[in-house]
Amino acid sequence: TLGRLKNRELRLDTATRELWLYLRDKLRDGDWSKTPAETEDLRSKLLHSVKEQLDLLSLHASDTQDAIDSFISEGWRDTLARETATLVQKRLHHLQNPENCDNAKKLLCRISKPCGFGCQIHHAAYCFIFAYATERMLVLDSSGWRYSGKWEAVFQPLGTSNCKEPLGAQPWSSYKEPHPPQVIQAPAIESLGSMSKPSFLPMAVPADLVERLTSFHGYPFLWVVGQFLQYLMRPSQQLGEYLEERRKFLNISHPIVGVHIRRTDKLQQEASYHSVEEYMTQVEEWYDRRETMYGKKEEKRVYLATDDQTALNQAIEAYPNYKFVSDNDVSKTAGELSSRYSQRGLYGVVLDVVMLSECDYIVCTLSSQVCRLAYELMQAHHVDASRLVYSLDDVYYFGGQQEHVLRAIHRKTENGGGNLDFAKGDLIKIAGNHLNGFSLGNRQGGHVRRELFPSYKAEEEIRVANFPTYPEVS
Ligand code: GDP
Repeated sequence: TLGRLKNRELRLDTATRELWLYLRDKLRDGDWSKTPAETEDLRSKLLHSVKEQLDLLSLHASDTQDAIDSFISEGWRDTLARETATLVQKRLHHLQNPENCDNAKKLLCRISKPCGFGCQIHHAAYCFIFAYATERMLVLDSSGWRYSGKWEAVFQPLGTSNCKEPLGAQPWSSYKEPHPPQVIQAPAIESLGSMSKPSFLPMAVPADLVERLTSFHGYPFLWVVGQFLQYLMRPSQQLGEYLEERRKFLNISHPIVGVHIRRTDKLQQEASYHSVEEYMTQVEEWYDRRETMYGKKEEKRVYLATDDQTALNQAIEAYPNYKFVSDNDVSKTAGELSSRYSQRGLYGVVLDVVMLSECDYIVCTLSSQVCRLAYELMQAHHVDASRLVYSLDDVYYFGGQQEHVLRAIHRKTENGGGNLDFAKGDLIKIAGNHLNGFSLGNRQGGHVRRELFPSYKAEEEIRVANFPTYPEVS
């Protein structure tokens, strides 16, 4: 019942949001400056499509009502979410603290990937998932880490420290049952071709947790990875004191929207430029929605994290009715940016990630690993924070993940728009949401060419895989 209720709630939320994006795009001026006949044609198509979307909305609403009728009792979801988080944290603790450390099976993972902080932490998270799936203690080798030289200078040790350095790590390719090597070297996720990707890789959800997770969370994999990150990123005493001191200094109060503006090197090849206005439009809409819901005006606050100081200056100037809180300050110079791989630079990005994750809503580009990290960590602070982000570019993903598929929950119709052919129940590989009511993708097993389809007609297909169930952890 809870799973069905959660699912109907998600459908309602998706359908309303996508309807708004669709309408906003269709009603832009340019589309209407045509001949009267063309305008009439457009108007009629629009009306039919909106009518269909609204009819489906009321269907989801009555379904939700049915599910609510059979709902058990208030507070059930919170308890379930808390208990599931405790269970997963206990399992990770158990995995990392074996009784006989020297004999324990291990997975060795080198943190030093040649990339930024978010990318390296995601590499560590992938290794941790790998370790959990193969029941191996994760040993992070942080020697030569570009940021700080040693993991333990920033984060707590991942487990028992009286363990000998593991020797003789074997490559994953040499793994053979029934006598697997004691120590395995984690392969880079990108090196696993699509055919050889183990089924437990992102975005797989452990089969023994999926029923609980779908009862309270809208994106179970996101919740799971948030738990792994929560364990990984437990601050060392020194970092903890720094975060506490900055928290006091920044004096954040709620509600607050986190905005992450990623520019500089990211714009060279990986992402497009977005103006401050594009981010702030979403922030305005969020505060407007709150005003409608709660019927009162609130102080509008934004925590702004960026690698581009000019973005902060522009925001402060263009939005005087907002209170901007930021760890960036005008004194930050190019010299400071060049120290970004130092421990000081590391503290800066960790602080931004942690602060963003503690905001009530995040507006960013999910193409950035910094924002994906904040969004993932945010899940550990709420029962369900899967809808608390607005991305100006990509949909959420985990680098190197298995195929990302959605399942069509309605059939394609004339009025729905889009060229992709699909039937109810088909799987669609998604390439992106165009933020105008349509997404791009191709049908699994169908034509490889990507076409548009109405976003509200498909939902995430949860990938479930068998993981160990750790029965020894109660
Ligand atoms: P991506 O390149 O944005 O996908 O993420 P990475 O984490 O791999 O690399 C970006 C690097 O830029 C980070 O590791 C930081 O050093 C820096 N950076 C980007 N955004 C911010 C920010 O908002 N605050 C701080 N302090 N640093 C940032």
